[in-house]
Amino acid sequence: MDLIKDYDIVVDGSDNFPTRYLVNDACVLTGKPLVSGAILRFEGQVTTILPGEGHCYRCLFEEPPPPGLVPSCQEAGVLGALPGVIGGLQAMEVLKLILGKGEPLSNQLLIYDALKASFRRVRVPRNPECPVCGENPRITELQDYEAEYCQMRF
Ligand SMILES: [Zn+2]
Repeated sequence: MDLIKDYDIVVDGSDNFPTRYLVNDACVLTGKPLVSGAILRFEGQVTTILPGEGHCYRCLFEEPPPPGLVPSCQEAGVLGALPGVIGGLQAMEVLKLILGKGEPLSNQLLIYDALKASFRRVRVPRNPECPVCGENPRITELQDYEAEYCQMRF
């Protein structure tokens, strides 16, 4: 909460699930816009979270996947150009928010397939049962995300 309090918009490109969920929850709880980007192998994703207006990361993926299910960037490898593409898209989302122009990727997930050189957009509705931004949230403060993630190993 201290890290994001002085910023108007948060951009997340973290490489691990505990950080990704921590940043999402902190942004939802403080109402900060979050532009989230992810990459794996030959695919990248971008979404813009506008707390109170649209979906959040947990609406998309309520809980982190079990450890080992999704290979880490270290295991799967990352082509250097892919974070450049996704990071550029995230920067454009930030500029659109600052300028108040265009349509942010709120309630949408943009998926980039590097092998096909194609983009597709998937609608992501806000989940009324979401544990952090839903109608009856059970997450009302930050948690121990490393512990939550590690508990899923058993
Ligand atoms: Zn949510």
